[in-house]
Amino acid sequence: MLVRLMYASRATATPADADLAAILRISREHNPAEGITGLLCFTDGVFVQVLEGGRNAVNARYKHIVQDRRHHDVILLGYEEITERAFPGWTMGQVNLHRLNPALVLKYSESGKLDPYAMSGDAMAALFKEMCASGAIAVS
Ligand code: FAD
Repeated sequence: MLVRLMYASRATATPADADLAAILRISREHNPAEGITGLLCFTDGVFVQVLEGGRNAVNARYKHIVQDRRHHDVILLGYEEITERAFPGWTMGQVNLHRLNPALVLKYSESGKLDPYAMSGDAMAALFKEMCASGAIAVS
């Protein structure tokens, strides 16, 4: 039984590149063993992450992530049962904002600025899918 979970959160302090790299590193260490794939985006003090995998694994990992003091104001943007993964290729892909076309963000939001708190979960999921299709995902 596969599920997709998506959330947004606010960074407690502006993370340096090394801090983001540390989060991605630990994610890429843990997630494969748990069968979890997904994407992590950080912009303007806000994280947005999509996690896909088995229901128990995703629920447990999310519970763990929510308690991380590096972020707060965690809001669930979406949680659904799925028949197949939309983001199977990334143990935790990072969205490269330099490769993100503002017109793509504008397609799904009120302004060209990415603000997951002002977007529906469906719109955010659709944007993530287009990011993948347009090559905006930096590393696997
Ligand atoms: P520990 O390493 O023992 O950490 C316990 C607590 O210490 C953490 O919750 C955190 O509050 C703090 N901490 C740990 N390392 C640091 C650090 N370098 N700097 C500051 N504080 C720190 N983990 C995954 O496995 N998969 C994911 O997909 C994933 N996504 C994440 C997304 C975000 C936005 C954030 C902030 C964290 C994410 N993590 C992810 C990390 C996760 O929250 C845990 O820190 C990690 O899984 C290690 O768990 P642990 O029990 O070994 O915690």
